Amino acid sequence: MGYPVGGVHYPRSVGEFQAWFRTDADCLDYLEWLRWPSGYVCPRCGRADSWQLGDGRFMCRACGGRMSGTAGTIFDRTRTPLTVWFAACWMFATAKDGVSALSLKRTLEVGSYQTAWAMLHRLRSVLVRPGRDRLSGPVQVDETWIGGEEPGHRGRAPGKKVLTAIAVEVREPKGIGRCRMAPVADASAASLHGFVSDHVEPGATVITDGWPGYHGLANLGYVHHPRSQRAAKARGEDPGELLPAVHVIASLIKRWLLGTHQGSVDAAHLPNYLDEFVFRFNRRRSRSRGMVFCRLLQLAVGHDPVRYRDLIANPRPRQVTPPKTRGKPPTLERSPADRPWRRIPTGDSG
Ligand SMILES: [Zn+2]
Repeated sequence: MGYPVGGVHYPRSVGEFQAWFRTDADCLDYLEWLRWPSGYVCPRCGRADSWQLGDGRFMCRACGGRMSGTAGTIFDRTRTPLTVWFAACWMFATAKDGVSALSLKRTLEVGSYQTAWAMLHRLRSVLVRPGRDRLSGPVQVDETWIGGEEPGHRGRAPGKKVLTAIAVEVREPKGIGRCRMAPVADASAASLHGFVSDHVEPGATVITDGWPGYHGLANLGYVHHPRSQRAAKARGEDPGELLPAVHVIASLIKRWLLGTHQGSVDAAHLPNYLDEFVFRFNRRRSRSRGMVFCRLLQLAVGHDPVRYRDLIANPRPRQVTPPKTRGKPPTLERSPADRPWRRIPTGDSG
């Protein structure tokens, strides 16, 4: 798939979404198309010659290996119907503030809160693409305490606040580009330098406050502009507004955690919520929410299965890069008119 086309590669509206994905077979076909845009490739022997069995699995003509379109993805062995998964993905991708496990459970009549919670965490775990671009300058960086708020909720142990570093691209003369966030162990130079090198392209201008933990960024190849609070005060400026872009992001994430998730985010899973916020924020100007939906599913079929016990034990499952695929077009027998992604390209869509 080149640049995705609305109405062909992704649904442009909820009406189109509902018309396209009526059955599990429709959803499976879409996932297979996202996973193997040029046709199924056997993961065992690498051949592209296969047929589809009656149960929908692919069978390799060369080695006889059988595989379903969801095997090895986050939808592997799921007991939740794919239509429900798709509806959850649609809500996750298109709702301005995302969706909580409770409202997902209610809206989709998912069996239990636990199931809804695990679905959302599986989706969150796919959002960070390995090897994604780092931010480019100028970038404001600061750190803040996030989490632990429990307004009006009794009987629930208050969560622990987590020190979180935030980096935000600033646009001249004003405006905000992309952002990144990650928990840091502390505000030491080791932690903050690590965060900056992970998330900001070397050579970029990095704007921070005067905190010593940021000293030495120039040695890592950044153009470092520390802003001193004392100097701001002397100039009659508000020292709290040294890094306005970071403060906008910090208040948005805090408001989102309190609003959509009612503050009930534990420290162990905070990184996943940060990833979700960043994923949505950085796509806020996307032409279509349907495109965000398509992107989410693309990441989901490119990600290893996430077991329930991993969601509990390790909130950051490892990711793998999906193998490059090539080969012949997929089985053409399942190509009804209401699966527009299976239409033969007319030339311009690529
Ligand atoms: Zn094979």
